[in-house]
Parts: sequence; structure tokens; C-alpha cells
Amino acid sequence: GNQQRMEVNILLMGAHNVGKTALTVRFLTRRFIGEYGDMESVYSRMERIHGQEICINIWDSQVGEKSCWVSEKQLQWADGMILVYDICDRGSFDAVRQQLQLVRRSRKPASCPVVIVANKRDLQHHRSVSGEEGRLLALTQGCCFFEVSAAETYHSVLLVFHRLVDLVRETRALR
Ligand code: GDP
Repeated sequence: GNQQRMEVNILLMGAHNVGKTALTVRFLTRRFIGEYGDMESVYSRMERIHGQEICINIWDSQVGEKSCWVSEKQLQWADGMILVYDICDRGSFDAVRQQLQLVRRSRKPASCPVVIVANKRDLQHHRSVSGEEGRLLALTQGCCFFEVSAAETYHSVLLVFHRLVDLVRETRALR
């Protein structure tokens, strides 16, 4: 195996309020923090995955931005992307659909894996996007799909990040 330190850049995208920051904070601190002040837009964390030290850099695309649109610089920076929507907010699901099109204009699946995350699973009674719709979108676009709750479980959030890191490693191995 390759014992060199590896870096993986992850770009988080999604409409406002879907829980991008909550997911990032959950992953970084293992805690759910409902409110937070201004933070730097790129966060880093060392993780040991399959025996290898990996530096994971996370860029929350919306921090400091007014719209949910990402720059070409951000698209090119990323090794992998996480597109988040809120299961209670259909508009945020449509935003993911649109952002996927934007992403695929400049980054091909073979060079930039994408994971779609349906967040706020704990709010089932307010759900407006079914799991099937999310799964179908992911399937037709060649993405992975996870339904999670940043508020409730650390494990499912960890799985999302680890899965994406695995996918990035696979794309690099194929290059
Ligand atoms: P961002 O704008 O995408 O970064 O969204 P935030 O992370 O700031 O979250 C928006 C709001 O949704 C905040 O009030 C969070 O506390 C709340 N939130 C985030 N994730 C969850 C979740 O999984 N379940 C519930 N019930 N609330 C959540």
C-alpha cells in the first residue's frame, strides 16, 4: 500500500439551510451544533482510513457567498463533491438537480465522484421529497446516495465522507 500522506478536497454544495454546515461540524467534531459563528470556509481533518493517513479538506461552498452557485475555481479544486438537500424542502432538491448539471459541465464522473445527501431524516413528518426520488436521481446521474440526519447520528455522516474518500481513491488509482 501507499503509505504517503494523501490529501482529498471535498466541496460541499446545496441550497441555503439544508444542513451543509451541520454535516461539516458533525464530521469534524462528532457533535451536532445547532448554531455557530463565522468560520473559515475550508476546514481540515486528518483521518485514518484503511490504514492510511488522509488529510480531508472540506470547502463549504456557501460560506461567505450570497447565492448557492459555486465558482469554477471551487469546481476545479474539488476531488469529490457532496450535494446536499433537505428532505422537507423540495426547492433544495431541485437545486441539487441544477447543481449536478453545472458540475457535469466542467467535471466528468471519472475525475470527480459525487455523493448526494438527503439530510434531516429525523423530520419524517415534514418530508416532501421521497427517498425513491433521491435514489433515482443518484442512479441516473451515476452518484452515490445517502439519507442522513446531521442532528441525530454521527455514524451515517461519517459513512458519507468515508465513502467519498474511497471513491476519490478509486478514481486516482484508475488514472
Ligand atoms: P447550511 O446553510 O446548509 O449550512 O445549513 P445549516 O447547517 O446552517 O443548517 C440549517 C438549519 O437546519 C439549522 O438550524 C440546523 O440546526 C438545522 N439542521 C441541520 N441539520 C439538521 C438535521 O439533520 N435535522 C434537523 N432537524 N435540523 C437540522
